[in-house]
Amino acid sequence: GKPEPTPLNPLIKEYVNLAYHGMRAGAEPINVDIKMNLDASIDDVNLIAEDFSRVILNLCNNAFDAMREKEKLTADSRQLSAHPDKKYEPNLTVRTKRDSGTVTFEIEDNGPGIPDELKDKILQPFFTTKKGTQGTGLGLSISNDIVKAHGGTMSINSDPENGTTFCISLPENVKT
Ligand code: ADP
Ligand code: MG
Repeated sequence: GKPEPTPLNPLIKEYVNLAYHGMRAGAEPINVDIKMNLDASIDDVNLIAEDFSRVILNLCNNAFDAMREKEKLTADSRQLSAHPDKKYEPNLTVRTKRDSGTVTFEIEDNGPGIPDELKDKILQPFFTTKKGTQGTGLGLSISNDIVKAHGGTMSINSDPENGTTFCISLPENVKT
């Protein structure tokens, strides 16, 4: 396909919901509180919708996997502890913003974060920390390629306290 003017916020809503409600086969269910904070002043963005929708799905699936992992770790440590902490509540915040010719799209989870020593590796094709057939290690590498093909950039903010935010910036009007 080629980039066409596409309403960004509805595309994001559709694919975040699809990722959540149509969880991949084999994935254990997880209850996530999803907040959408979408800038209503964003209009059409030149996107190859078929490609960009995969970026949304990949980032959401990674966030759900990460929070599922944290939920398990938290449940284990609560069992061992005489003073169990407050229950872990998985949260996903999806945000769009518009600022002088740039549209940003953020997906923030409160999962376990990405260890510093892995931050340089996760964009490489086939790098995965998931066991067995759960991960191909291709999601982020493909997503990064798709974002670049749109003239955009992807950046990552992550720490073990707060979780992980993937931030994608796109030119408001992509030249073809
Ligand atoms: P896969 O999901 O198949 O493992 P990806 O390319 O999508 O491959 O992701 C690569 C790795 O990056 C994951 O295995 C995981 O270790 C890490 N990762 C990606 N997203 C997150 C996230 N939101 N929180 C924590 N780790 C993440
Ligand atoms: Mg993935």
